[in-house]
Amino acid sequence: KRRLVLSEDDYVNGVLKGDRMTLSRAITLIESNNSKHFAKAQRVLQRLLPHTGKALRIGITGVPGAGKSTIIEAFGNMLCDAGHRVAVLSVDPTSSVTKGSILGDKTRMGTLSRRQEAFIRPSPAGGTLGGVARKSRETMLMCEAAGYDIILIETVGVGQSETTVRSMVDFFMLVVLTGAGDDLQGIKKGIMELADAIVINKADGDNLLKAKVARAEYERMIEYIRPATEGWPTHAYMCSAYTKYGIPELWKVIQAFKEMTTESGVFNKRRNRQLLEWMYSMIDEHLHSLFFDDPVITGRMPEVKDAVLNGIISPTQAVKELVNMFDVDMAAR
Ligand code: GDP
Repeated sequence: KRRLVLSEDDYVNGVLKGDRMTLSRAITLIESNNSKHFAKAQRVLQRLLPHTGKALRIGITGVPGAGKSTIIEAFGNMLCDAGHRVAVLSVDPTSSVTKGSILGDKTRMGTLSRRQEAFIRPSPAGGTLGGVARKSRETMLMCEAAGYDIILIETVGVGQSETTVRSMVDFFMLVVLTGAGDDLQGIKKGIMELADAIVINKADGDNLLKAKVARAEYERMIEYIRPATEGWPTHAYMCSAYTKYGIPELWKVIQAFKEMTTESGVFNKRRNRQLLEWMYSMIDEHLHSLFFDDPVITGRMPEVKDAVLNGIISPTQAVKELVNMFDVDMAAR
């Protein structure tokens, strides 16, 4: 069944109206690796840009099984009840077309995915983390233009994905499990340093006592860590996605964060820094692929590699020669 091709105007108008079908298709355009689609998506995005930036962007990370999607479901439903429109995205560089994404799976957020006020989109499939990051950022902007005022971005700790999501959001939370001892070992200090809140989930039933112990433990650890956000003290909180205990409080914490950082200017400073970081990382990606896809470079590379491995030229000399060839080739185009 062939779908009607949408024009640039169709995309812009549909997204601005908050039409979910058009939004979905606009995101598919963003995610396409076809260069024609890419160019069209960029023109659409350019026109939507004035309508972006007004949402509160919240990142959520944690090991698989910590309860991220259950929390998102509870939290998202609460926000929708309060009149918000919530978009849930995920960043998962390990997802591929065939495997499907392990995150942001609609079946894992059953009640939220059925709501008109919510929009759930799984991670763009495959590719480099840089590629996934660009697509996710642009997807976030599309959702903002479509009127979603809360963006939740979920990621599982795969490689650098936490850092990537941190660089996209205003507030970042780390969801952890109780049973301190073993657990604490598994969480890298570097990840705690990114968090504006540490959320101990499953604080219910027999687990409540353990959650309290874990909370005290995390509070002690945080003391030795530089806060992720200037002027905002990171704390550990308890919640239960099952009983909803601590879920409204979590929202209060995030609102207090927004108020405080807006007041101090830290909120906007971070947004500006993120924009420039985004630009720089895209320059890196772009130059990297220009270089490694250059036919002159790919043609000469085996020879140069051999020369380096046989001690004929140093890596430094090899780089100098390759960059020189690249320069000449670029100039000739
Ligand atoms: P994710 O991999 O981090 O997204 O974790 P899930 O949200 O899929 O949750 C993993 C498991 O923990 C599931 O079996 C959930 O039902 C369970 N779970 C999630 N939240 C809670 C909670 O608040 N209390 C309890 N007891 N179990 C929970």
